[in-house]
Amino acid sequence: MTGMKSDIEIARAAAKRPITEIGAKLGIPPEKLVPYGHDKAKVSADFIKSLSSRPDGKLILVTAINPTPAGEGKTTTTVGLVDGLNRIGRNAMVCIREASLGPCFGVKGGAAGGGYAQIVPMEDMNLHFTGDFHAITSAHNLLSALIDNHIYWGNEQAIDSRRVTWRRVMDMNDRALREIVCSLGGVANGYPRETGFDITVASEVMAILCLAEDLADLERRLGEIIIGYRRDKSPVRARDIKADGAMAVLLKDAMQPNLVQTLENNPAFVHGGPFANIAHGCNSVVATRTALKLADYVVTEAGFGADLGAEKFFDIKCRKAGLQPAAAVIVATVRALKMNGGVKKDELGQENVDAVVAGAENLARHIENVRKFGVPVVVAINHFGSDTEAEIEAVKRCAARQGAEAILCRHWAEGSAGITELATRVADLADAGTAHFSPLYPDKLPLFEKIERIARDIYRAGEVTADKQVREQLRLWEEQGYGGLPVCIAKTQYSFSTDPGLRGAPEGHVVNVREVRLSAGAGFVVAITGEIMTMPGLPQSPAAERIFLNEEGYIEGLF
Ligand code: ADP
Ligand code: MG
Repeated sequence: MTGMKSDIEIARAAAKRPITEIGAKLGIPPEKLVPYGHDKAKVSADFIKSLSSRPDGKLILVTAINPTPAGEGKTTTTVGLVDGLNRIGRNAMVCIREASLGPCFGVKGGAAGGGYAQIVPMEDMNLHFTGDFHAITSAHNLLSALIDNHIYWGNEQAIDSRRVTWRRVMDMNDRALREIVCSLGGVANGYPRETGFDITVASEVMAILCLAEDLADLERRLGEIIIGYRRDKSPVRARDIKADGAMAVLLKDAMQPNLVQTLENNPAFVHGGPFANIAHGCNSVVATRTALKLADYVVTEAGFGADLGAEKFFDIKCRKAGLQPAAAVIVATVRALKMNGGVKKDELGQENVDAVVAGAENLARHIENVRKFGVPVVVAINHFGSDTEAEIEAVKRCAARQGAEAILCRHWAEGSAGITELATRVADLADAGTAHFSPLYPDKLPLFEKIERIARDIYRAGEVTADKQVREQLRLWEEQGYGGLPVCIAKTQYSFSTDPGLRGAPEGHVVNVREVRLSAGAGFVVAITGEIMTMPGLPQSPAAERIFLNEEGYIEGLF
């Protein structure tokens, strides 16, 4: 848009307050903050411990319709809503994920929100930040090194080197490392075997850090990681090769939530960032729990659309951490509804009320789905300059037909002033106490039936198929005591179905479970449907080609 500044220009012009002042807003004494410069700090573990007897604030989830490739503004709305709540006199804070470094240099798009609803310092948040992801990378790769070292020095645990499932990670989009052969070059370098790299956010260590309650729980979970199998197919755990203690040491600081601020100087925890497909896709339990002790309203975000992000937030994170969400905001954009209604990307600029109405089937289904968890819903229409009056009215009508209110929000262009109506409605909804949260399925349901329950109730599939091998694997894990775990389904984010091209509100489709994996430390079973990339590549013209330092030493090109 002409005249509109870029995200980084807006962020650079922010009137940031010292981080101790932001901490003071939450009642955190300066000595309980561990500053990383002047505008970032970690919150000390002993302070977090001291909060346990305090009452909890209200937890509000921001989720969305099935997205278009551009992202629909969940983070932008999460940040805007917190500024809006504070503007109407409520004490609210943000709780979101950290950014992965790799994608910053790939396809344009940051993780700090956008326009006048951003987290600052956005450059830091999108780059090295407080080093948490480097710590996770190191902890993960320490385990990788210990595995090959264990085999090298005699392999006491009888690890079958063909069945090592633990790979290596780095925080970069590097397709060249997806599949590799390691230990080449002779006897001194060990036993050659096939392995590969994933991106750091796909590491089970990331998921563990985000679900662990404290350092003791972190170490216990790290020990539970299954690194591979013996010839008799019995699992070998990280604990068996004594890796858990040293891994926890590397993660000690990374376990503490990072405090930063919004453009309007309201507090934000930015902590952890697991993948939303093979993991659960939301910020750490420690950050959310701590935030609930410090603010009256905590607004958090779940990755992708509500079929994946909200379902996992409820069924994995809230179930395991005992969180009770009070309300949910479903972000919709006229653009994405039009795409769900069949309009092509290059025709999004033209008014098309019929396509909005057709695409709103997608919104209607997400409203129904979120309510299945007992959580009340309000729709946020994230306003884009190209939206027309008639299109916006059509979204409101469609939401009203579901008995939900859809509220137009202009936080991206106007900051908190553009989102006070939504903030008022969300606060009322959360205060009304109408939520009766419960997960979709009980712990004791057999694993395959858990997958079926999600596929039928949330994706509206007619059938779930799987090879005998997959079903037998699930049964074996049940025998080994993993039957009570929740399932984490890896599926395309673009559709309710497993076909990314099938937009809108398809039903009766077939969901095929191609593969299952056990994340024993994180505590879930992953069911993979379709192609899932755990090491992304860079596009033909990566954003990195346009990122540089200008003459004043400021970063340019970072969105
Ligand atoms: P999500 O969290 O859903 O992935 P983000 O909030 O990160 O989405 O937004 C994705 C991109 O879209 C960002 O670059 C942001 O600046 C941009 N964006 C969000 N809302 C708007 C809007 N209302 N108008 C224009 N651009 C927007
Ligand atoms: Mg986001």
